[in-house]
Amino acid sequence: MKKVFRGTIVYFTGDPSIDEAHTKIYEDGVLVVEDGLIKEAGDFTTSPYKNEEYTDYSGKIICPGFIDTHLHYPQTGMIASYGEQLLEWLQKYAFPEEKKFEDKGYSDKVSAFFLNELLKNGTTTALVMPTVHKSSVDSFFEEALKRNMRVISGKVMMDRNAPSYLLDTEKSSYDDSKELIKKWHKKERLLYAVTPRFAPTSTDKQLEKASELLDEFDGLYMHSHVAENRDEVKWVKELFPKDKSYQSIYDRFGLMRERSIFAHAIYLSDDDYKMMNEKGSSISFCPTSNLFIGSGLFDLNKYKKFDFRLGIGTDVGGGTSFSILKTLAEAYKVSQLNKYSLSPLQSFYFATLGGAKSLYLDDKIGSFESGKEADFIVLDPNATDLMKMRAENAESIIDILFILMILGDERNVNSTYLMGQKV
Ligand SMILES: [Zn+2]
Repeated sequence: MKKVFRGTIVYFTGDPSIDEAHTKIYEDGVLVVEDGLIKEAGDFTTSPYKNEEYTDYSGKIICPGFIDTHLHYPQTGMIASYGEQLLEWLQKYAFPEEKKFEDKGYSDKVSAFFLNELLKNGTTTALVMPTVHKSSVDSFFEEALKRNMRVISGKVMMDRNAPSYLLDTEKSSYDDSKELIKKWHKKERLLYAVTPRFAPTSTDKQLEKASELLDEFDGLYMHSHVAENRDEVKWVKELFPKDKSYQSIYDRFGLMRERSIFAHAIYLSDDDYKMMNEKGSSISFCPTSNLFIGSGLFDLNKYKKFDFRLGIGTDVGGGTSFSILKTLAEAYKVSQLNKYSLSPLQSFYFATLGGAKSLYLDDKIGSFESGKEADFIVLDPNATDLMKMRAENAESIIDILFILMILGDERNVNSTYLMGQKV
């Protein structure tokens, strides 16, 4: 089955801040999809497909679907909770809400809502934390499977320093994870992440078990948090007095490897960032969350210097929006405060191919190179009166991309496609 789309095509073949040639923009462009995969992307007027029937998105931007590299689906119902920083915020808002997911019916309902919200916002792939409950993972994967989405998730492992109603044990977390891996990992487009929440909520034994799981199965992910908040970093130092740094705790247990993704990573040393690169691990930059919870400013100059893999995360419900566009606006502002001018091209790169690279999925998604899975979105730069007015003064497509990331949200997402199917 072949489908042809006409519109302004934007995608990347690498980081555009390293080489301009990595940016592919076709103002009057064509995207051809066959059997759910990208067949061709290029100029419309010179394309052999120009005389075929096509879907016309002229005046709109067609780009790869957004990739959200860190968020929590069970926190959907407590997004925008007032007044606390990380450790108190977890106790007061996040943990009590996560308790509700012992009820499968509730997890089903929230999973469906959450995935629809992602699609509405143009997010086609996400790395998602559920709760400690095995059934919370089942709900999430069941709903993702129904939608044919490429998502990564896995049971949260937590055997200390959380309310007793959310604790598992070193053994139950291992057994439950193993069962879930066998059930879901690599089923259709689903992938499994071994998910110790963060070092303070796992005993040494549990972290060892997490590492064991990673050794036992091929292609698993490791998903956790690191160095998000100053009080948290201080606490971790008390809990692990012998380790050189917060990041090196994960390394000691063999959890720093390829396909390990760490959210935040704000308070790390240069040695830690260097290790991130050497081990092939990735950082998820979550600016709306970091501002909302008052955590701090992640510094993109570290990315430039140490060249680790980096994606963008909304971190809902610490984050304040499902919109990657809104998240890029905050990434821009956080970077301004660090004297790093985050360009619109690099922003859209992080939100697409950069995110795919950080998840080791760049052979499958994130760009319009032939053979990739046709997950893409159509962005309308004229969705609001203000944006329409501002777009009239735009000098280039790059200018339009900047307007989209600064003023845009889900109103600009005209259509979302998964494997070439409009959803
Ligand atoms: Zn998080």
